[in-house]
Amino acid sequence: MRKLPFDKAKLDEMSVKWPTPFHVYDAKAIRENAKRLRKAFAWNKGFREYFAVKATPNPHIMKLLKEFDFGSDCSSMAELELAERVGNVGESIMFTSNDTPAEEFRRAWELGAIVNLDDITHWDFMLTALGISGGAPGAFEGRVMCCRYNPGPLKGGNAIIGKPEEAKYGFTREQLFECYARMKAAGVTRFGLHTMVASNELDPNYIIDTAKMLFSLAGDLHDAIGIDFEFVNIGGGIGIPYRPDQKAMDFSAVGGGIKAAYEELVDGRGLKPIRLYMECGRCITGPYGYLVARVRHVKSTYRLYAGLDACMSNLMRPALYGAYHEIVVPGKEGSGVTSVYDVTGSLCENNDKFAIQRVLPVLEPGDYVVICDAGAHGHAMGFQYNGKLRSAELLLEEDGSVREIRRAETLDDYFATLDFGSL
Ligand SMILES: *Cc1c(COP(=O)(O)O)cnc(C)c1O
Repeated sequence: MRKLPFDKAKLDEMSVKWPTPFHVYDAKAIRENAKRLRKAFAWNKGFREYFAVKATPNPHIMKLLKEFDFGSDCSSMAELELAERVGNVGESIMFTSNDTPAEEFRRAWELGAIVNLDDITHWDFMLTALGISGGAPGAFEGRVMCCRYNPGPLKGGNAIIGKPEEAKYGFTREQLFECYARMKAAGVTRFGLHTMVASNELDPNYIIDTAKMLFSLAGDLHDAIGIDFEFVNIGGGIGIPYRPDQKAMDFSAVGGGIKAAYEELVDGRGLKPIRLYMECGRCITGPYGYLVARVRHVKSTYRLYAGLDACMSNLMRPALYGAYHEIVVPGKEGSGVTSVYDVTGSLCENNDKFAIQRVLPVLEPGDYVVICDAGAHGHAMGFQYNGKLRSAELLLEEDGSVREIRRAETLDDYFATLDFGSL
């Protein structure tokens, strides 16, 4: 049974002010995890994590992570704006977008972000968007340019992200050689190299192999084109143990494995020092966020159903991927008396289930049901289908105090984009 950073009494206190459902994040655990990550990569001078904003796009969480010098990995106008508002500008932003609109290239450039191109055609597209397609002396002064590599069949796939050759992202190897040569010819002097081939990956070797692949490629590009890479970015995708039989990835094992690869493939090859970047989201906040709901109805038909006051608009992963999330019933943890439930929401879609045929303590209306590992790709994936509103987000501070970091939506929010006046 998962240990929670709050008990039933604390939830009673919180729910007076913030009726369920709500998301709550554990600040202390997020900080401790951030420290572990930094320690595991401290051997690499300039190591940096760019938090994938899409995982938990809340400025208070981003600000907390900024204490550990985490930058922001952005892929949309709104995410660029969030980064700027928390003071992450310049090379504290990694702009890793795809199918990118011109105005986002302009905004990212204006903010001084590291622009990471998704395709070879985006080079010309970006130059046009920036109004420098005819060449502009000094336009790249101080600027670092990056490209996203898609290894295709050279790298085996993984469950959420699929096979690289079927993924819409990134350049082929041949395209990388061509694009970096064109960038160099245009006057770019600072370079980075990126890939993202994992999602919710729990095997440290997969991440270590990704780093090896990039170090080798950086060396090959150096030899062929005569450019040096300031950084390689191994992307995000480090997984978390959603299921009780899974094990968290040991950051220090990954850090150690990548260090050995670095010594062989960067130092051993005589390349200039390369900073290691990553842009994880899930493993940074995922295990430290909880969706807190209450049982609204218990229904016995062909199965036993526990209907919550939360639904898939608060946490879509189970419905979207069939994902497993641990469920804890505070106050009944040790009751020993169990039943088997489908734990549902109130959306008119039968896949609106947080758990299917789950053994849980006997549930009654009013019981708290805490859905674990909701801290990344949880609230963020929320939507308003079926007139469901997104819940509040709360931050549980180290001293036990609780702070609202996003209010719950209201019906006024839902209706705000409709013009009833012209009916
Ligand atoms: C989603 C995403 C990430 C973060 O992935 P996690 O699985 O949350 O670590 C990082 N980079 C890019 C480009 C992404 O699309």
